[in-house]
Amino acid sequence: MTTHADPSTDLPHARPANLPDRIRHHIGGVDVDSVSGETLEVIDPTTNRPYLTAAAGDKADIDRAVAAAKDAFENGPWPRMKARERHRILHRIADAVESREHELAAMESFDTGLPIAQARGQARRAAENFRFFADLVVAQRSDAYEVPGAQVNYVHRRPVGVAGLITPWNTPFMLESWKLGPALASGCTVVLKPAEFTPLSASLWAGIMKDAGVPDGVFNLVGGYGETAGDALVKHPDVSLISFTGESSTGQTIFRNCADGLKGMSMELGGKSPAIVFADADLEAALDSTLFGVFSLNGERCTAGSRILVERPIYDEFVRRYAERADNVVVGHPSDPGTEVGALVHPEHFAKVWSYVEAGKSEGRLVAGGTRPEGLEEGNYLRPTVFADVPATASIFQEEIFGPVVAITPFDTEEEALRLANDVRYGLAAYVWTTDLERAHTFAQGVESGMVWVNSHNVRDLRTPFGGVKASGLGQEGGYRSLDFYTEQQAVHISLAPVHTSRFGAR
Ligand code: NAD
Repeated sequence: MTTHADPSTDLPHARPANLPDRIRHHIGGVDVDSVSGETLEVIDPTTNRPYLTAAAGDKADIDRAVAAAKDAFENGPWPRMKARERHRILHRIADAVESREHELAAMESFDTGLPIAQARGQARRAAENFRFFADLVVAQRSDAYEVPGAQVNYVHRRPVGVAGLITPWNTPFMLESWKLGPALASGCTVVLKPAEFTPLSASLWAGIMKDAGVPDGVFNLVGGYGETAGDALVKHPDVSLISFTGESSTGQTIFRNCADGLKGMSMELGGKSPAIVFADADLEAALDSTLFGVFSLNGERCTAGSRILVERPIYDEFVRRYAERADNVVVGHPSDPGTEVGALVHPEHFAKVWSYVEAGKSEGRLVAGGTRPEGLEEGNYLRPTVFADVPATASIFQEEIFGPVVAITPFDTEEEALRLANDVRYGLAAYVWTTDLERAHTFAQGVESGMVWVNSHNVRDLRTPFGGVKASGLGQEGGYRSLDFYTEQQAVHISLAPVHTSRFGAR
């Protein structure tokens, strides 16, 4: 194992320039403190020492933000603008994100513990999300149906209203862009509630939006805890829909809380995705991909291939080579460009991941990691951890760990592989490795997951559906599905000739 032991935040490369020491809500175009004056402390995951004070909102702040968003929706230009005008502004947002890529990546890496090299990719993806939805909204067409000589029927689209966007701490800026892009492109106004662990990069949105020409009140941000600010946003009667990304259990709570207001919901939830490696697979490529699939982004990714199912004839070789590679993964300070796995986001999360590492020691066979890297005595560092021979009943097989921990399990037949793949409550992604064309299709279609990649790690095509089945989500976004979510579709029926009507009451 190699470590870039450099936990000192005093080193020039470790601390981003212009790091604020305090951040506030953004409501109606103005940065404001909480009505209550409450704040929360944000910590540096490499030391677990607080470095930032963030305004912590509650119902009073959400009330103000929703009022601003409602006013902008009812009285402002945004929902009434031509799609072409919103398109131009969204591209300016993307330009700004791209031009601030280095600053943004440095902040994201510092706040979340993600390796800087991977944080850069996130900024580019965030910009791409805006460009994609900007282009889509101008290319969008409405359905129209003709009943010759009788009716012309068409679909009129209009933005739903105020959208509540609630996001998690993993790749926060990129995931916020995945919701902001389509919501704003559709003409909604928004209140964003970012995760309390990682509010730093979200604080850049207000400036980016303003510079791009987004009118005041269209974008609002309230920081704070889920149980206070998030809960108030979900329950607010003037919020028409909730787009949520986070844990499945939080999704269940939000689902219940949306019921009273009959709100629209989009739920992107947890995962425990399988990577299935058949004996005929390109082994080298499968190793590269399955290592990257669970150890990139510190393993804190919803689509991580955290269960690897390997066909028996290649099982021993696969496990040996996988463990060797995992041992060589560079764990180090997130700001070091050579780092492959950085620090986990927060000590609470670290403790949860660690509890699974301990459980795994009796549930499977530890073949790599399982300890803190040498030289990184403080902060939330864990060596990439690999368990082999893990039975399907194990907690490390069944439950989402959300860290650099992987379970490897052998299988003998295709049927057994499919049964193992589907034997969990989640159904977000799956990765199939085989050179047998027929099996690639039939197996992919048999897996209970919202997305499948064959002979690839997670490479997104933004036009395709994104979302999970079972406990991994409700509804799918991606391409026009995202615009549909933020848009009401009204059917307008025009008669072209006198309509036959029963003449009630006519004598
Ligand atoms: P989380 O559920 O703890 O929190 C997510 C957000 O919800 C935070 O902003 C939090 O403050 C808020 N929240 C918490 N309780 C709330 C409540 N009662 N009402 C309203 N809001 C509330 O999730 P997390 O730990 O931040 O993120 C990790 C999880 O997110 C993992 O399960 C991961 O798989 C999932 N995730 C899923 C996807 C996907 O696309 N499917 C993408 C990224 C992450």
